[in-house]
Amino acid sequence: MQEQLELLKKLQEVDLGIKEINQKIEEYPRRIAELEENLSQKKAACEQRRKTLVELEMDRRKKESNLRLEEERLKQWEARLKEIKNNRDYQALLREIAAAKRDNSLMEEEILKELEEIDAIEKELEQREPEYRNLEEEFNITNSKLKDRFAQEEKELGERTQIRGKLARDIDTDLLKRYDLIRRQRAGFALVPARDSACQGCHMDLPPQVFNEVRKNKEIIHCPNCQRIMYWEGS
Ligand SMILES: [Zn+2]
Repeated sequence: MQEQLELLKKLQEVDLGIKEINQKIEEYPRRIAELEENLSQKKAACEQRRKTLVELEMDRRKKESNLRLEEERLKQWEARLKEIKNNRDYQALLREIAAAKRDNSLMEEEILKELEEIDAIEKELEQREPEYRNLEEEFNITNSKLKDRFAQEEKELGERTQIRGKLARDIDTDLLKRYDLIRRQRAGFALVPARDSACQGCHMDLPPQVFNEVRKNKEIIHCPNCQRIMYWEGS
C-alpha cells in the first residue's frame, strides 16, 4: 500500500479512538450532575421535614405554656368563686369558668394532635435520614471512581493526541486537510474500503476504471459520490 494511504489508515484508527474517548469524557460531568441532583433532592426533602418538626415542636411548647397559664387562671377563678356572695356574680363567674374549661380541653386536643404528628415525623426521619446518609456515602464512592476514570481517559487522550501529532507530521498537508474535512462531514470515517466494485462508505457502484485504480492501492482515490478516500484491503 502506498505510504500516505497507509498513514491515513493509521491516523483514522487513532482519530476514531480519540473520538470515542472524547464521548466518554463528555459523559462524566453529566453523570455526576445527575447523581448530585438526586442527592440534593433527597437532602432537601429531609431538611423540609426536619424544619416542619422543629416548627411543630415550638408550637406545641407555646401551646403547653399557654395552657398552664390558663389552668392557673382557672384555679384563681375557682378560689374566687368561694368568696362571692352575690348570686348573679357567682353565676357569671361559673359560666366563665365553664367556657375556660372548654377552651382548655380544646387546646389539650390540639396539643395531642401535634404530639401525634411530631411522633410520625420523627419515625419518618429515623428512616429517611439514614437512607440519605447511605446515599451520600454511595455518591462519594461513585463520584471518586468516576473522577479516577475521567483522569485515566484524559491521560489516554493526551497519549493518543501525541501519536496523532506524530503520524500527521508525515502526511502531506493538503491531503491531511482533505482527510480532516471529510472526516468531519462523515462522522469520523474519511477512509473506507472498496469492495465488490462499490464504495463501502456510501455503497454506490464504482466505475470499473476507478475500482481498478483503487485495487492497486497506489493513489489517493476519492469516491465520486461521497468523496471518501478508498482503499483496497483484499488480495
Ligand atoms: Zn462513497
